[in-house]
Amino acid sequence: MKHVSWLIVGGGIQGMTAAVHLRRKAGIPADKIAVIDPHAEPLAVWKERTEKIRMPYLRSSFVHHLSPDPLELEKRGDSFLGRYKRPSRSMFYNTSMDLLHEAGLQNSWIQDTVVKAEKSKDGWKVYGNNTIVSTTNLLLAPGGGSKPIIPEALQPHAVHVYDPAFDPAAVTGRAIVVGGGISAAHTAVFLAEQADAEPVLLHRRPLQVSQFDSDPGWLGPKRMQAFSRMDDRSRRTCLHQERRTGSMTRELLFKLRRMERAGRLTILQDEAVSSTRHEDGMIELALSSGCSLQAETVTACTGFSRELPGSSWLKPLIEAYSLPCADCGYPKLSPSLMWTDRLYVTGALAELEIGPSARNIAGAQRAARRIVESASM
Ligand SMILES: Cc1cc2nc3c(=O)[nH]c(=O)nc-3n(C[C@H](O)[C@H](O)[C@H](O)COP(=O)(O)OP(=O)(O)OC[C@H]3O[C@@H](n4cnc5c(N)ncnc54)[C@H](O)[C@@H]3O)c2cc1C
Repeated sequence: MKHVSWLIVGGGIQGMTAAVHLRRKAGIPADKIAVIDPHAEPLAVWKERTEKIRMPYLRSSFVHHLSPDPLELEKRGDSFLGRYKRPSRSMFYNTSMDLLHEAGLQNSWIQDTVVKAEKSKDGWKVYGNNTIVSTTNLLLAPGGGSKPIIPEALQPHAVHVYDPAFDPAAVTGRAIVVGGGISAAHTAVFLAEQADAEPVLLHRRPLQVSQFDSDPGWLGPKRMQAFSRMDDRSRRTCLHQERRTGSMTRELLFKLRRMERAGRLTILQDEAVSSTRHEDGMIELALSSGCSLQAETVTACTGFSRELPGSSWLKPLIEAYSLPCADCGYPKLSPSLMWTDRLYVTGALAELEIGPSARNIAGAQRAARRIVESASM
């Protein structure tokens, strides 16, 4: 059985940011770190989703990436946009892969899915479908959005944009894209650019502009000190209120409006209340205004379930070791993001401690710093 100092469950942005910090800031040798994830390569979910919607630039700025050096991207790349120097998707991804390579983490990858973890005399014993790994420290980074949500009114006719089987390039004819956030906007723009698609962007609330998906104040001590003084319930309410899900950057809204003016895209504020498929294959959406829309495809860009990430194998772990959880089911953590003896979490699982930025790249950096500080003590 392989033994490591650090086993990271989940090789997405969060897990790999922690891995790079453990290498660079805590000096943990690469062969003492393992990352377990069902995909063939790191950052697979992020790559698949951002490529699928053809997101050209990140929403976050040039200082947010996998490295502890804030200027890492600026030193290496030259493809940035606007006053916040938002990195291009390809440059961000390529630099991330270079960083992982330079950290010597290519042999740390174990392609498997974790199904169980238990305490052992050396720390933790973690079971994948095909592997067992023993580790001194266990870090959970299983992501936050694995279960796509399609509103009942659109079921069963809509497909979720992040359904692995959905390919926007295969969409032709009249197409309805449902949602008001960046996934919906990028998808509608992509379809509007295709000669054989006629997209309608259907959104229920007025389109909202926000440069970032939470106020940058949540990265600093002032707002975070107030957050850390709140009880768990207030923290959860604050997370709901402060995350600007379903918003988009100003430049993306301008792009949508330009395409609308050019007659390549219809933008409609309304809400689907039911859907029917006709014999000719067309899908009809009945709208709350009393109107209806017909299309060949309906793509739901409507987010993910809010349930505890990894709940199928985390719930038994929580029960077995009476791990502290808030009423919302999410972990109650120490400031170093430790849940219990040498069991750490990051990303969505750490949001009651890291605050509204927890699920983003900036949150990944903040979480990694805290974990590494505690590991170096
Ligand atoms: C289209 C899009 C654009 C975005 N743009 C930005 C941006 O510009 N800036 C920003 O800051 N944020 C952005 N985000 C948000 C942010 O990038 C993501 O929230 C972030 O990638 C989440 O990282 P993660 O590691 O938590 O999750 P994931 O990327 O989902 O990675 C989690 C990994 O854990 C694995 N896993 C899960 N369960 C198990 C298990 N039992 N065993 C082993 N492995 C497991 C999964 O397979 C997955 O590979 C964007 C998100 C999307 C979808």
